[in-house]
Amino acid sequence: MANKIYKGIGSSDGVSIAKVFILKEDKIVIDDSKAKDPKAEITKYESAMAKTKEDLVKLKATTLEKLGAEKAEIFEAHLSILEDPAIGEGILELINKSEYTVSKAINEVTGNFVAMFEAMDDEYFKERAADVKDISARLLKHALGVRIIDLAAINEEVIIVAEDLTPSQTAQLNPKMVKGFACNVGGRTSHAAIMARSLEIPAVLGLKDILSSVKDNDIIAMDGSTGEIEINPKDKKVWEKKVESFKASQEELKKFINAPTVTKDGFKDFILGANIGSPNDVENVLAYGGEAIGLFRSEFLYMDNSNWPTEEEQFTSYKKVVDLMKGKPTVIRTLDIGGDKKLSYFQFPHEDNPFLGYRAIRFTMDKKDIFRTQIRALLRASAFGPLGIMFPMIATVDEFKAAKEFTLECKKELEKEGIKVGKDLEIGMMIEIPAAAVIADKFAKYADFFSVGTNDLIQYTMAADRMSEKVSYLYQPYSPSILHLLKLTIDGAHKHGKWVGMCGEMAGEPHAIPLLMGLGLDEFSMSATSVPRARSIMSKLTIKETQELVAKALECETTEEVLNLVKKVIK
Ligand code: PEP
Ligand code: MG
Repeated sequence: MANKIYKGIGSSDGVSIAKVFILKEDKIVIDDSKAKDPKAEITKYESAMAKTKEDLVKLKATTLEKLGAEKAEIFEAHLSILEDPAIGEGILELINKSEYTVSKAINEVTGNFVAMFEAMDDEYFKERAADVKDISARLLKHALGVRIIDLAAINEEVIIVAEDLTPSQTAQLNPKMVKGFACNVGGRTSHAAIMARSLEIPAVLGLKDILSSVKDNDIIAMDGSTGEIEINPKDKKVWEKKVESFKASQEELKKFINAPTVTKDGFKDFILGANIGSPNDVENVLAYGGEAIGLFRSEFLYMDNSNWPTEEEQFTSYKKVVDLMKGKPTVIRTLDIGGDKKLSYFQFPHEDNPFLGYRAIRFTMDKKDIFRTQIRALLRASAFGPLGIMFPMIATVDEFKAAKEFTLECKKELEKEGIKVGKDLEIGMMIEIPAAAVIADKFAKYADFFSVGTNDLIQYTMAADRMSEKVSYLYQPYSPSILHLLKLTIDGAHKHGKWVGMCGEMAGEPHAIPLLMGLGLDEFSMSATSVPRARSIMSKLTIKETQELVAKALECETTEEVLNLVKKVIK
């Protein structure tokens, strides 16, 4: 009989076979009783804080050495969360006023933060929730004297199996020894997954019951792209072959990092760009051969701050990106806040459907002072290299015209003050709302470019919340409805000589790339690590075959039919 194949979420590519390392930590048991001696609890708290801080400083230094500045920032962020007065003061207050034990106080205060972040269905905040959980667990272990397992000390080849891996545990892994990890929880967007991809350690997450299925001395075979795992593989040779062929394909992809972007028939005009959330991400974009930044989500600058960032602070960040890109184009999106993305220093009004409510351009055009500060910073940065300013969530032509007019007024203001604005500045918009996609040709008279935000466009078109598991079967990037909207968008722009990018996740999906090529998309913006694979896919296709594919796909009735057509083309 064949072995059971466990299926989880493939979160970091790679195939491995190795002995299991079962990561089971002692349980953290919160002391729920009334504290008899608050002073003693405070002493325990202070000591736990000091030890946690010491750990984080060390982790930051080793991560900096192993993974570079960008990843080390995670621990800088951990340190600032740890030192956030709202956390420290909250814990001390519960100990002093409510006779909480130190563990109960830490658990309650950090738990509130986690719950708040988890309620937001934004990737960034989900990561923040994981960060707070990570810090909370470390604080609790120190406060309760629970042993912390040192994963950096692993000195034989293993695959770690755990309930979950925190970002700080992942950062300690030595890729020479840790050949992969498999966890009951988590998914592609968790920090652990992101780090695993940089460390090039295969990872399968969200397996639900893997931890209870393994025992000491088991051998595990795993495929981090398909999410498949076999315990004590029946046919080891099959897996060894997979390991070899993965290694060969990785070598092949490396060739595409610095190669030109060119199709099989010699078409050279597609641009492969990347999405970023902070100037620190630019390093990675260039390392993976990105030719542009198709989306800088400027909201992270606001969310990382304790108050509205000043014009100077913003200018410094935007200029840094433009400088680092050395003449390669950058598109910065204006503040896309509201809906699920909240700010600690601004109270959004309650709405029953915040995703359909007061957010993005609707918010900034209502708060002109806040908008002016950002637009001025962007305009100033445009003097240092090719920059596109992009408005999110545009629904009507009037809305775009008003935002553009406001930007041009700010430009005049700056010029009056003798401040330079770039000559090549472009003003564009995101296509995220079907209302804009269907009359894209009308918008294209006014916008210099479009960038399609498929993450939102799909949810609004299918009326299926992008984060809801219950309706995820309706979230279909390959639906013929989406393809028709993309065609209207791209043709509408080209009719007026404007270019179209895509910065939603779909742009980097291997099955979407042939369709988008055939539709005539100009710029593909994805996570930096996906760039070489996209370039490789493009090199194997001719424009003619992608156009023929699109002609057939537009006639399909279902997603399945579209995908079957694509599979025939990319084999
Ligand atoms: C999108 O909607 O596709 C997009 C890129 O924006 P965000 O994911 O930030 O909403
Ligand atoms: Mg969006």
